[in-house]
Amino acid sequence: MIRKFISRVFGRKTPGVAGEPAVIGVSKHGIRRDDISSGSRRTVETLQQQGYKAYVVGGAVRDLLAGIIPKDYDVATSATPEQVRQCFRRSRIIGRRFQIVHVLMGAETIEVTTFRGHHDEHSGSKAHTDNQGRVLRDNVFGSEREDAARRDFTVNALYFDPSSETIIDYHHGLADLKQKTLRMIGDPKTRYREDPVRMLRAVRLAAKLNLVIDPEASRPIREMASLVENIPPSRLFDEMLKLLTSGFAVKCVSQLRAEGLHHGLLPLLDVILDQPLGERFVMLALENTDRRVREGKPISPGFLFATLLWHEVLSKWESIKATGERAMPALFLAMDEVLDVQAEKLAITRRIAGDIKDIWALQPRFEQRSGKRPYGVLEQPRFRAGYDFLLLRAESGEVDGELEQWWTDFMNADGDARAAMLLPPKADETKKRRRRKRKPADGPAE
Ligand code: ATP
Ligand code: MG
Repeated sequence: MIRKFISRVFGRKTPGVAGEPAVIGVSKHGIRRDDISSGSRRTVETLQQQGYKAYVVGGAVRDLLAGIIPKDYDVATSATPEQVRQCFRRSRIIGRRFQIVHVLMGAETIEVTTFRGHHDEHSGSKAHTDNQGRVLRDNVFGSEREDAARRDFTVNALYFDPSSETIIDYHHGLADLKQKTLRMIGDPKTRYREDPVRMLRAVRLAAKLNLVIDPEASRPIREMASLVENIPPSRLFDEMLKLLTSGFAVKCVSQLRAEGLHHGLLPLLDVILDQPLGERFVMLALENTDRRVREGKPISPGFLFATLLWHEVLSKWESIKATGERAMPALFLAMDEVLDVQAEKLAITRRIAGDIKDIWALQPRFEQRSGKRPYGVLEQPRFRAGYDFLLLRAESGEVDGELEQWWTDFMNADGDARAAMLLPPKADETKKRRRRKRKPADGPAE
C-alpha cells in the first residue's frame, strides 16, 4: 500500500526515493570543486559555515556533467530567504511567486533558493491551482528530499556539494544522463498539468543536451498540448526566447512540431511552420541565430522575432494594399495587426516590439535607390539590423539578389562612387508623388 503510494507520488521505484539518496563520489562523476564558478562555491561555503545545508543544483550540475559550460548557477539551501540575506552583504530578495535571493559575487549573480516543499493532497500543504491543475502558488518551504521531488526532470535534481565533491542523487539523474534519457520526476501528466511550461522545457533540454525524451514523458504531450494556452504570456515569452536563443533553435522547432506542440497554441510557431513560403526564410533565420549563439556572438531578440513574423506581415500587408490603402500606411497597419495578435499569447516587451517595427519599416525603403533617400536609410539607427534582414530575404529568394548587392556596394562605397550608383528616379514614382500631393485623401493604391 505504502509502496504503491510512494511510487504513485514519485513515479519510479528508485532506491534513491524509497530509501536514502545515492551519494556519488568524485571518482564516479568527475566534477571537482574548482569546476564550478568561484561565486557559487563561495556562496555554498558561506552558507555551510553558518550551519545551513547548501548545494549547487539544477542546470549547472547537469551541464557540467554533460561537458557544457553552465550559463548561470543556482544554489539550493535550508536557509530561509531572510537568513540567506543576512549571510551576504551584497544580496537582495526578489520574486513574488516564490522568493529567491540574488547573491552578488564579483560579476556573478548566484540565485539562491530555499528548499521547496512537495505538494500533494496528502501533505497538508496543498498548492493553489487553477481549474486545469496548474499550480498558481507554491511558496512552501520543504526538506531537501521534497525539493528534489518538485524539480522537473531527474537530470535537473542533482545536488553538488563542493566541500565533499559529492553529488546527491535522489532520482537516478546521473544514470539517466549517462543513458541520454530525459525522464520526468513523478507522473508526467500531473507534472505537465501543474506547469505546462515543462512540455516546452522537455523539448528545449532534450535538444540542448542531446537527450531522448523518455516515452512516458513524451507520450502525453500531444494530448495535453493545449494546456500551453494557460501559460501567462510573459512566461511564455521568456520560455520561447530561451528556446529560440538556446543555440538549438532549429532542432527545438522541429521537435516541437514532432511533439504536436506547435499548432493552434503558439501563434508564433503556427506562423513559422505552416507557411511554406516563409519556412525557408525562418529556417535560415534560425540557422543564423544558432550559429551566432554557438560562436558566442550576441543576438537581438528584436531581429529574431522580426524574422519569425515577417511572412505574416507580408501577407497582411498585401491584403491591406488590395483594399486600396497606400503602401507605407498599409505596412504600418499590417505590423500593428500582427503584433497585436501575438500579444494575446506572447508578451513581447515594448522595447523589443519597437525594434521589430524599425526593422520591418526599413524594408520597403531599401527599394528606393534614387535621390537622397538611400542616404537617409544609411543614417537610420537600425540600419545594420535592417540590412541583415534584407540579406536573409535575398537568401530565401523573396527579393532579388541584385538589390542586396546594391546595398552592400552602396554601404561600402565612398562619396563619389556612392553618388554614381544612384538610380534615376522612376517616372511613375515622381508622377505618383505629385498626384498624391494634390489629393492626399484618395490617392491610388501603389
Ligand atoms: P537552463 O539554465 O539551461 O535554462 P535549467 O534547468 O537550469 O536550464 P532554470 O530555469 O535555470 O533551468 O531552472 C533551474 C532548476 O530549477 C532546474 O534545473 C530545475 O531543477 C528547476 N526548475 C526550473 N523550472 C522548473 C519547472 N517548471 N518545474 C520544476 N522544476 C523546475
Ligand atoms: Mg539554469
